[in-house]
Amino acid sequence: MTLDAERKMQFLFALRSKGVTDRHVLQAMEKIDRGAFVQGLFADRAYEDTPLPITCGQTISQPSVVGLMTQALQVTPRDKVLEVGTGSGYQATVLAHMARRVYTVDRFRRLTRAAEELFARLQLTNVITFTADGSHGLPDHAPFDRILVTAAAEDPPGPLLAQLRNGGIMVLPVGQSDTVQTLIRVTKTETGLDYDELRPVRFVPLLEGLGRE
Ligand code: SAH
Repeated sequence: MTLDAERKMQFLFALRSKGVTDRHVLQAMEKIDRGAFVQGLFADRAYEDTPLPITCGQTISQPSVVGLMTQALQVTPRDKVLEVGTGSGYQATVLAHMARRVYTVDRFRRLTRAAEELFARLQLTNVITFTADGSHGLPDHAPFDRILVTAAAEDPPGPLLAQLRNGGIMVLPVGQSDTVQTLIRVTKTETGLDYDELRPVRFVPLLEGLGRE
C-alpha cells in the first residue's frame, strides 16, 4: 500500500473509532483531500485526527469532530444548509457532498476568498460563500433546513433559530468558557425547540462584526 493510501485508511479508522458511523459522512470524508485545506508545513499532518492552524488565527476543526457534527445534522440531498464559520472551507465541502446547496459565511474576507477559490478548483457548484457576521444568519436566503455553527457562542443566536425551517436541525457548540463547550443539537418543531446535548468540544469563539483581514 502507498503511504497516502495507508494514511487515508488510518484516517477513516480514526473517524469510525470516534463514533462517525454514518456511511454518507464517511464516504464524503473519504473523497475529500483535507490536505487541500491546510497550508505549508501543516499539509503533511492533514490526515491526523487533529485540529490545525489556518490563517487569520483560526483553525480547521478536528476531522472526527467534523464527522460527528455532520452526522448529528442528519443532512439529506434535499437540504439547503447554512454553515457559520467557513474557516478553511473543509466542513463546507463535506456538507456540499451531502446537501443540495450550502451557504457558508465567515467574518474574515481573506478566508472566504481563499475558500471560494478552492471551491472553484474542486468544481463544487453548490456552495455559495459570504463575508459577514454569521450570527445574524443570512436573512435574504432563509429559511434553512439545516444550520451548522463552527464557532462557539454562549447561547444559540436568535436570528439563526428564527431562520431554521420547521422540522429543521441546527448543530452548534455553546458555552461560556473558551476552553470547554458543549456541542448541542436544536430541532425546531411545530410546538417549539428540542435541545440535545451531544458532547464536550472546543471551538474558537463566535465573534461580533467583520474581521480585519
Ligand atoms: N468550519 C471551519 C473551521 C471553523 S473555525 C473549517 O472547516 O475549516 C471558526 C470560524 O468561525 C473562523 O474562521 C472564524 O473567523 C469564524 N467566525 C467566528 N465568528 C464568526 C461570525 N460571527 N460570523 C462568521 N464567522 C465567524
